[in-house]
Amino acid sequence: MKPYAEMTKEELIALRKELKAQYREMQGKDLRLDMSRGKPSVEQLDLSMGMMDVLSSNDDLTCEDGTDCRNYGVLTGIDEAKELLADMMEVNPDLIIIYGNSSLNVMYDTVSRSMTHGVMGNTPWCKLDKVKFLCPVPGYDRHFAITEYFGIEMINVPMTKDGPDMDMVEELVSTDSAIKGIWCVPKYSNPQGYSYSDETVRRFARLKPAAPDFRIYWDNAYGVHHLYDHDQDHLIEILAECKRAGNPDLVYKFASTSKISFPGSGIACIAASLNNLEDIKRQLKFQTIGHDKVNQLRHVRFFRNIHGMVEHMRRHADIIRPKFEAVEEILERELGGLGIGEWTMPKGGYFISFDSLDGCAKEIVARCKKAGVVMTGAGATYPYGKDPDDRNIRIAPTYPPLGDLITATELFSLCVKLTSVEKLLK
Ligand code: PLP
Repeated sequence: MKPYAEMTKEELIALRKELKAQYREMQGKDLRLDMSRGKPSVEQLDLSMGMMDVLSSNDDLTCEDGTDCRNYGVLTGIDEAKELLADMMEVNPDLIIIYGNSSLNVMYDTVSRSMTHGVMGNTPWCKLDKVKFLCPVPGYDRHFAITEYFGIEMINVPMTKDGPDMDMVEELVSTDSAIKGIWCVPKYSNPQGYSYSDETVRRFARLKPAAPDFRIYWDNAYGVHHLYDHDQDHLIEILAECKRAGNPDLVYKFASTSKISFPGSGIACIAASLNNLEDIKRQLKFQTIGHDKVNQLRHVRFFRNIHGMVEHMRRHADIIRPKFEAVEEILERELGGLGIGEWTMPKGGYFISFDSLDGCAKEIVARCKKAGVVMTGAGATYPYGKDPDDRNIRIAPTYPPLGDLITATELFSLCVKLTSVEKLLK
């Protein structure tokens, strides 16, 4: 089939009739499918069930330094968990604080502390007239929700295949002292699955912010989440690069085992310079006596070390790779060459990003919903839920069983076609 833009009005009208009939048929199937959130599937969760058996009532829950994990204490996490997560984060264990079970929670805390108490002795943000964050778009809705919640003004920065538009980032960060942070998902980004190039990482480390309390929020959510064994993205490690560049305090790095073990029951951490960690600990000691050490120990005993974790991630990949490939194959078969959409083909992470013709995304998602397939809301990948071009849709292939995913993607493709024809006929 030729590109829609090259079709005559009569051809488009005939096509619309055909597509509408197909859509009505799909509606008749009474589908109830959910492609809205990037959750691991049941089979993926099953991979970690061994974690339920690594600690039993007969086990000694003493960790290497003699701490009884059943009791209070150890503010920044047990040593063996620090070692495991430090390897996962590619940093020195001394530069890590282990938190509870969600990295989003750590990011929220970090923004919250900066609002109320400031960053390393600087004025608390709540006392400033204006606080702004840069938001690479499309991006992760829950990042944007945190900054929106605190009344922080968000500025869109376009993403490229190599990361955020660094000319824009450098210009804004160096001239506007109200800009206090930037949200980054550097590896297998949410939703595009892009990884920052070496040049991008180097430029980040060499930023010269107008604000002394500007920090890069480097959310390494998908650091070990490769889809392929032999084609993986590797980034320059940002903490080391910042140090090399003479900017050691510029970055906070976040991660968790959410999509490695159990989302909401994993372990989360922050990695940062010693100065930043001291600043964080000044608050942390009031917030808790120590996070869940039993869960930290359970993770260490289950994975043993980074090699165990890497092996475990291969099993995840074996489950989700066919799902990503199925979506890509259907999109190519149904939409390839029609000029009505573009999509990414990530090598890792949890999402595929789809761009429709301008002004079509909301309608496509609404049409999917009317036929029983829930997608992430159009606009969710932009601050304030506002995609200025109404074109980006996040596809989350991991959760549904393969058969459901295939049906859902076929319906999605149909909705893209129908909405695009109608747009062109307007
Ligand atoms: N960061 C990114 C980029 C994500 O995509 C997600 C989940 O989808 C999270 C963080 C959530 O992490 P956690 O479960 O550790 O709060």
